Amino acid sequence: MAQYDVIVIGAGPGGYVAAIRCAQLGLKTACVEGRETLGGTCLNVGCIPSKALLHASHQLHEAEHNFAKMGLKGKSPSVDWTQMLSYKDEVIGGNTKGIEFLFKKNKIDWLKGWGSIPEAGKVKVSDEVYETKNIIVASGSEPSSIPGVEIDEKIVVSSTGALELPKIPKKMVVIGAGVIGLELGSVYQRLGTEVTVVEFLDKVTPGMDGEVQKTFQRMLKKQGLKFVMGAAVQKVDTTKTKAKVTYKLRKDDSEAVLDADVVLVATGRKPFTDGLGLEALGVEISPRGQIKTDAHWQTNVKGIYAIGDAIDGPMLAHKAEDEGMAAADCIAGKAGHVNYDVIPGVIYTAPEVATVGKTEEQLKEEGRAYKVGKFPFMGNARAKAVHQGEGFVKLLVDKETDRILGCHIIGPSAGDLIHEICVGMEFGASAEDIALTCHAHPTFSEAVREAALACGDGAIHV
Ligand code: NAD
Repeated sequence: MAQYDVIVIGAGPGGYVAAIRCAQLGLKTACVEGRETLGGTCLNVGCIPSKALLHASHQLHEAEHNFAKMGLKGKSPSVDWTQMLSYKDEVIGGNTKGIEFLFKKNKIDWLKGWGSIPEAGKVKVSDEVYETKNIIVASGSEPSSIPGVEIDEKIVVSSTGALELPKIPKKMVVIGAGVIGLELGSVYQRLGTEVTVVEFLDKVTPGMDGEVQKTFQRMLKKQGLKFVMGAAVQKVDTTKTKAKVTYKLRKDDSEAVLDADVVLVATGRKPFTDGLGLEALGVEISPRGQIKTDAHWQTNVKGIYAIGDAIDGPMLAHKAEDEGMAAADCIAGKAGHVNYDVIPGVIYTAPEVATVGKTEEQLKEEGRAYKVGKFPFMGNARAKAVHQGEGFVKLLVDKETDRILGCHIIGPSAGDLIHEICVGMEFGASAEDIALTCHAHPTFSEAVREAALACGDGAIHV
């Protein structure tokens, strides 16, 4: 019987990163994965394939809307959907093979199959039982639907089905204006689909800064996305090729029906822990299905750890990765740490939206005295030069100390720009620290500096 120091269950961004860190720390490590390829939801049916389609469809949008302005004349490219899907599959393949290479390099055994835990210290994969001192559960999450809506991955799809539709639909209804709904809704809208997003709340992307929510929705509307806000979807009826989505407006209880060729259900995800045998082991699970852990990612059963989407906190690949490294550190006797106050969130639409720390609404609720420094990308020379002058950087800082409390960006490369602020927040930076740092010209990052300047004596280019 093989003997390990650590067996990680699940090879998504949480699990594979945990496994690599364990191996780097000298622990004999295996990772259980039942999919044909490593990388979990993120690499196979999530972040990575959706970024490929977002990139391809954004190029089309650029060709249709901005090329002629720059003197690039000619017919806009037509879409070869089959080729676009194979490009996406190639991207997936390249990334998942990369993880396989990293496993070999770090001498991590890939135990192929679905794992379960018959007892602490043992992991069963198919008919084999492996002994291990520690187990890290990194089993991830799965799409969660709503009552009256059954996902068949053909007409009514989750993000998984939406990434491999046999053809580009004429009409799509997206249920939920969260990250998945707006990213994939944008993809199809750019490819020519008539997309209507039906959202229960009155604002898109729940939990984000209110000003960003408003601006973001306005920009998406301008791009052609349609929105029905404050509407609870009641049911979806399907035939072989079509669907009817019935929703009820919250303000007056009136009902209406939308026709669609495809319905994308993007109403959130739930922890995936089926078949692991956690209940029988007495591992504590919250009412929302999340595995409970202590401050060192250990469950109430000694030697069983859990990380990522299967536990509490935002369902983000990078949060899972951080927890994976930290849990590995704890197992190796080091001080594992994750700063949950500085976890960025990014939406990869065009323009991108990125956020870290407190929103203005949260600061108001806490009764904290704060200052706002805002700078529009219209005042940024680089953004204007490349037709990306929409959006802004909004910095929230403590009124007394000038310490950065949050940052919200909507605009070009927002997902990269946010990290300057993340590093700043880790170091306890003030807006003045950012404002006094020389930023290269002409870069988008100057907009971040200008927002910091706006917290003091004023931005220059507005
Ligand atoms: P979400 O929680 O972000 O959004 C779900 C939306 O559905 C909410 O706005 C909610 O109000 C709405 N909704 C719920 N029930 C409804 C109903 N009956 N009718 C109409 N609207 C309804 O969930 P998601 O977009 O499915 O994403 C799932 C998870 O995956 C999230 O945690 C997200 O952060 C993560 N994710 C992140 C990224 C990224 O970081 N770029 C990309 C994809 C997914």
